Amino acid sequence: MIKLHDKYFKPFISSAQIDEAIDKLVVEIANDLGDEIPVFVGILNGSFMFTSDFVKKYPKPCEVTFIKLASYEGVKSSDDIQRLIGLTQDLTDRTVVILEDIIDTGKTLVEVHRIFENEKVKSLKIATLFYKPEAYKKDFKLHYVGIEIPNKFIVGYGLDYDNLGRDLPEIYQIKETQHMTNLVLFGPPGAGKGTQAEFLKEKYNLVHISTGDVFRFNIKNETALGMLAKSYIDKGELVPDQVTIDMLNAEVEKNAGANGFIFDGFPRTDAQAKSLDGLMDTKDSAISAMIALEVDDEVLVKRLLERGKTSGRPDDANESIIRNRIKEYYNKTAILKDFYSAQNKYHGVDGVGSIDEITERLSAVIDTL
Ligand code: AMP
Repeated sequence: MIKLHDKYFKPFISSAQIDEAIDKLVVEIANDLGDEIPVFVGILNGSFMFTSDFVKKYPKPCEVTFIKLASYEGVKSSDDIQRLIGLTQDLTDRTVVILEDIIDTGKTLVEVHRIFENEKVKSLKIATLFYKPEAYKKDFKLHYVGIEIPNKFIVGYGLDYDNLGRDLPEIYQIKETQHMTNLVLFGPPGAGKGTQAEFLKEKYNLVHISTGDVFRFNIKNETALGMLAKSYIDKGELVPDQVTIDMLNAEVEKNAGANGFIFDGFPRTDAQAKSLDGLMDTKDSAISAMIALEVDDEVLVKRLLERGKTSGRPDDANESIIRNRIKEYYNKTAILKDFYSAQNKYHGVDGVGSIDEITERLSAVIDTL
């Protein structure tokens, strides 16, 4: 990720992908133009890198010139296109190919066509490296398009955000979610994750997702998901990854505008952790921290048997199922400590004490993030 002025941008199109797109444009244009000597007209400033790389790859003789237009102010395409340097040579009867770095609304193209209105060129073709179909509002034909992109602001490879970023050799896309706090609340069954999540979600205005709670809700309502999950949960085993991941994704999607999430009981496997990273990435976000409540096994068994007297949960009712859940935790889930430690995101917290004491210990970690 990079920061230009006040905004964050994430990597979007690599140098190799740009190179490939230019190769494709070169082949198409060279095939169409045959042995004619075209005049390539780069639109400054944005297309200086594209024009340079394009003509270096062009396999036959050609001429290169530039016109200079200005259209962007900050991250919005402005209505006011200024012509700063126009045509400086006679293009009568020549085949002209405009090389644009990007076409979004198409306003620059209006000015380009105005410039060529009175030139008696043989033909005028438009080639653009990047094209935003959702933003394009004009009817001018685009003869050659490198890469179609969504309607989001990009920088790099000649394109700027208030003059910064033109020098970057690859393309970056603006990060729209500027900040979320996403916590993985971790620890063995009975460590107190659910209890603590209730306090933390209020304090930090986060959405709490407990996969165990969502499964139990589905079991109670006898949904297909509930029926499937029940057979695993009742034995203290983990529900298969894909089922759990799909469910979690749906829960996150239901809360699109959230400030952040507390994930409780998820991820429990390596595959789930990787999938969660991917999901956060689609939100232009990331997991901020894994906070783990550390509690001794014997304390856990005692707590869960105690809870089982009132919780009505079949998986709390019997010591051998409880021990199986703890075993599943050590066999499959505890490895996630390494996953998040490797990203410097693991924070262990002593989970024995009063509820208030533990909330304070957790808050102390969250406040440093
Ligand atoms: P919990 O309420 O977090 O203790 O979860 C209760 C049970 O739901 C677990 O023992 C699993 O059977 C199932 N479960 C909850 N979360 C997951 C998950 N992330 N992956 C697989 N199974 C899960």
